[in-house]
Amino acid sequence: MSHSIYSGPVFEMARQQFKTVADHLDIPELDRDRLLYPKRAIAVSCPIHRDDGRTEVFQGYRVQHHLTLGPTKGGTRFAPSVDVGEVAALAVWMSWKCALAGLPYGGAKGGITVDPYTLSPRELEALSRRYMQEMIPFVGPHTDVMAPDMGTNEQVMAWFMDTYSMYQGQTINEIVTGKPVSAGGTLGRREATGRGVAYLVGRALDHLGIEAGCATAIVQGFGNVGLVAALALTERGVKILGVSDHTAAYYDPAGLNVAELQRYAARRGHLAGFSTQGLIDAADLLVQRCDILVPAAIEQVITGDNASKLKCRILAEGANGPTTPEADLILQQRAAEIFVLPDILCNAGGVIVSYFEWVQDLQRLFWEEAEVFDRLYRILERSFQQVIARAKRDRISHRMAAMAIGVNVVQSAKQTRGLFP
Ligand code: GLU
Repeated sequence: MSHSIYSGPVFEMARQQFKTVADHLDIPELDRDRLLYPKRAIAVSCPIHRDDGRTEVFQGYRVQHHLTLGPTKGGTRFAPSVDVGEVAALAVWMSWKCALAGLPYGGAKGGITVDPYTLSPRELEALSRRYMQEMIPFVGPHTDVMAPDMGTNEQVMAWFMDTYSMYQGQTINEIVTGKPVSAGGTLGRREATGRGVAYLVGRALDHLGIEAGCATAIVQGFGNVGLVAALALTERGVKILGVSDHTAAYYDPAGLNVAELQRYAARRGHLAGFSTQGLIDAADLLVQRCDILVPAAIEQVITGDNASKLKCRILAEGANGPTTPEADLILQQRAAEIFVLPDILCNAGGVIVSYFEWVQDLQRLFWEEAEVFDRLYRILERSFQQVIARAKRDRISHRMAAMAIGVNVVQSAKQTRGLFP
């Protein structure tokens, strides 16, 4: 496709990664656009009443990448950076992620260009409900199933579900995942991404012969992924040397008390002001020595500039797209030093347990938490083994191996189904 609405640095990154994988897989040029470009992109204007009486319009998007394996699936992001290119890239990554995990989904992502922290609770509810209302013609439990992402949470999912249900005249729990348990959510979903990260880090430590009890970690991002990953790593005996959010970064070579930081952040909503000691520049935090570095915030933080300076043994990508293709070239040269757990493997716990939530909602049969985590770890284990084996067989990076497996799944499903009409 020579012209498309998808542009910007994040989509460019997804495109470049796809090209590298497609070259490796020898996918004919003529088949590539069909695999890469999203099936649909929806843009909506969402007007709300602000508390001061003004009417304000926010721009919302939803991109559905492919419908070949079942409904599309993916989170909804509320952030000032949101644009159609970023949302499309995140949808493409969701496709490879779901395919790698063997889920019967294509990828999707949505978002609103807004800083949710500038909205009052009433304004946030109004915007969430209006966004879902605008999306009703385009989503459905068998068409496209939303979930949380940056800037959204369980409460927003409950509003989405309620809004959709009110229009249908009956409760449709399976329209979104990541809901509160009291609104038809599953046990374990809130912790799923972070605990999945910790599980895979555990497997990488085994692989490298490092004892978790002797290992250290630095975590960027203190939201649902970073915080839970830090807590789960602590449970495994790992010492957390550094954490950060968008307001502050802390580093202590003797180890931080994550539970204390968690209590402070729950009260204040951010890390800034926690202490005057141990403050460090956020960019410097990433290049401190540690065994495990977990970027769990935003895209493009490991770049051509800092990839050669990383002093970790394991790079565990809790975020989507934290590593640029330039950084990947450097990491490939450093493959013997740094074990990469690529995003579509490392953070897949969230969407895997979302899938469990959808299945439970459809069946009206709810599982115990132990069953959720047992099934989650079994899928992550299988994916981990597949990625390691493929990387070894093809002499490629873990990221390329993970993507190659995902792209292969989508490609062969498209081939088998054929092209309509
Ligand atoms: N937003 C999460 C992700 O990027 C979860 C998506 C989902 O659960 O559908 O994987």
